[in-house]
Order: sequence, then structure tokens, then C-alpha cells
Amino acid sequence: MTLVELVFVYGVYYREILRSRQAVANDKRKEPPVLRQVAEGVLIHESEFCQSNAVVVQGRAGVLLIDPGVLGPEMAAVADDLRELGQPVVAGFSTHPHWDHLLWHARLGAAPRYGTARCAATGRDQLADPRAKARIAERLIPPDIAGQVPLDLLGLITGLAGETRQIPWDGPEVRIVEHQAHAPGHAALLIEERGVLVAGDMLSDVLIPMLDLNGTADPIKDYLAALRLLEGVAEGVDVLIPGHGSTGGADQVRARIGQDRAYVHALRDAQVPSDPRVGPSATYDWVLGVHARQLQQLAQRSERDGTSG
Ligand SMILES: [Zn+2]
Repeated sequence: MTLVELVFVYGVYYREILRSRQAVANDKRKEPPVLRQVAEGVLIHESEFCQSNAVVVQGRAGVLLIDPGVLGPEMAAVADDLRELGQPVVAGFSTHPHWDHLLWHARLGAAPRYGTARCAATGRDQLADPRAKARIAERLIPPDIAGQVPLDLLGLITGLAGETRQIPWDGPEVRIVEHQAHAPGHAALLIEERGVLVAGDMLSDVLIPMLDLNGTADPIKDYLAALRLLEGVAEGVDVLIPGHGSTGGADQVRARIGQDRAYVHALRDAQVPSDPRVGPSATYDWVLGVHARQLQQLAQRSERDGTSG
């Protein structure tokens, strides 16, 4: 072998070594995708925290991100997936003003974030107190994840005027179905073109209906009205995405509306609900405590109304 041949062969060999090293490095850097497609152009990420679902809807120039997630590393992983797909976040939406639906991560970018007018106003009121974030961190976020929840961009949403029927963005029509049930200004979102209903904190298979017991005169009546409203838009829905829990198919929409209605009836009548979400095989044992608290608060309310009226 001549010197020239030797240099050439060694050169090829050396390039191969470099390439394989690079491949190993790339392999290490590349995490598996966290987003999972549930309908055409609709992907979700389920958080380790309370099975919270972040929802991505693909539009023409980027995606709409609904309830982005809870843990910082998880939201960053969603941002990485979207970067990989070449799809920037062009709009955000929070279904309701509870901390676990109002979060954001810097890596998701600076797209406008929306909520209903009542949702935004409630969030703004809560966060007006300079100690609000510290209180959320102390009292609402479980201690084991508190360090992983980035609160700096919490609640920075713009309220959509009351008559706004759809999210203003360049993508499939996303209809806002606002109702009074779980929280002020709570909205479900209907993406008719994709057969998807994003239910916010309604219609979960792991959490019972949690009523907004402070902001309304008749929370039971409001919740039942909200379920009727969802029933009215359920026709043609193939995929149901709850704020927490598993996604469901067409049959699950009516099944879960029925299950939530039965629970609310049991709560109203102070009966023991026959509901798997608070039964012996419940996913979260603390949900039984939520049920007991709701029962107690409703009893106090009716006692108070009884004596005052
Ligand atoms: Zn909630």
C-alpha cells in the first residue's frame, strides 16, 4: 500500500469513527417524543401529575397549545417535540383559572395565551396579591413536585370578550363552550373538524365532578346545566380529552356525562354515590376526601340558606 492509499484508507476509517461517535451523541441527546396523536392533527401529553392532559392542535403555521402542562421538564419536552416537528406554538389557551391549567414554560415561546373573559379576570384577581404565588406553592402544589413547577409565567392570559365563540388563530375552528360548573369562566373546546372535545376539568374517568361552591348561588343546578350543554355538542365527537384522566372514544362521551350526572344527583340528595372514582378501586384515594368535603359544604350552605331565608 502506498502512502497515499494508506492516508486515504485511514481518512475513511477516521471519518467513520467520527460519524459513529456523532451518532451515539445524537442518540443520547434525542429523547423519545412525549406527544401522542389522538386524532388527526391533535396530540396530547399526559403529565405524571394527576394525569393532566396538555393538548396540541395543529394549525397552518403552528400549533394551539391548550392547558400546557404542570411540570417544567415535561413542558420543556413538549417544546422540544414541537421544535422537532417544526411547529411553533402560535396560540395558547387555559380552560379555567386553576393553577394547574394556567402554567407556561419559557421554551414554549411568547405566543398570545387566551382564556374566557371570566377565566382571565378570576386569574388576574387571584394573582393581584403579591403573595399569591407563594401561597399557591405552599398550599396547592403537592410538596413532592413543588420545585418542578415553574410559576413565573403563571396566569399571563388575555381574556376573550364574552361574545367570542372561537379561539382567534390560524387553524381549524375551535369553538368555546363556556359554562358555570367547575370554576368561573370554565370552557370546554369543540374542534368539530377533528371530532374532538377538550373537556377541561369535566368528564374525567379518574376525578369526580368538583363543583365551584363559592362563585355561584346554585352550584348543583349550574353543574347539571353544564352537563346538558356538553351533551348538546357531543354529537359527532369521536375523541374526548379530559383535563385529567384517560381520553375516551365516542361511546365514552355520553357514558361520562351520565356518570357525572349520577354523581351530582347523589351529591344533591346526600346519597352514597356508586361511582368507581370514589370506590375501593379509585385511581386517587384523596378523591374520597373531596367528595366528603363537597357533601359537608353543601349541607352547610342549605342550613345557612334555611335559617336566613
Ligand atoms: Zn380545575
